[in-house]
Amino acid sequence: MENCLFCKIARGEIPSRKVYEDDQLIAFHDINPLRPMHILVIPRRHIVSLQTVEPGDEPVLGRMLAVTRRLAEENGSPEGFRVIINSGRIGGQEVPHLHAHVVGGPEPVGPMFKRN
Ligand code: 5GP
Ligand code: ZN
Repeated sequence: MENCLFCKIARGEIPSRKVYEDDQLIAFHDINPLRPMHILVIPRRHIVSLQTVEPGDEPVLGRMLAVTRRLAEENGSPEGFRVIINSGRIGGQEVPHLHAHVVGGPEPVGPMFKRN
């Protein structure tokens, strides 16, 4: 995907503060962190969202989750963390390249949602 922001980050065409990479994934600090630790994990290959995953994507989806523990341990959130995957319009996804937010830090991240 020529003009996709996260594809450009994955190719190294846009700089990022990378914390992990392997043959299928890269992980880097969110540019606008919402918690002391706020890392994005993305597949190198362009997948738009959880709305578009196919059976062949299962290994990379599994790896995205499997690496979260290591990311948290190495980036200041050893006692737990939260994973968020915003998907599509209803999920509030802004960048149309699948990404998991891994958030945490020394303090609890708080409730998932505020109750009205
Ligand atoms: P979404 O709302 O799509 O789930 O999350 C997109 C995330 O990407 C946001 O948290 C935003 O701060 C982050 N982001 C947007 N542009 C960039 C960028 O150029 N570099 C980095 N590192 N993060 C970005
Ligand atoms: Zn992309």
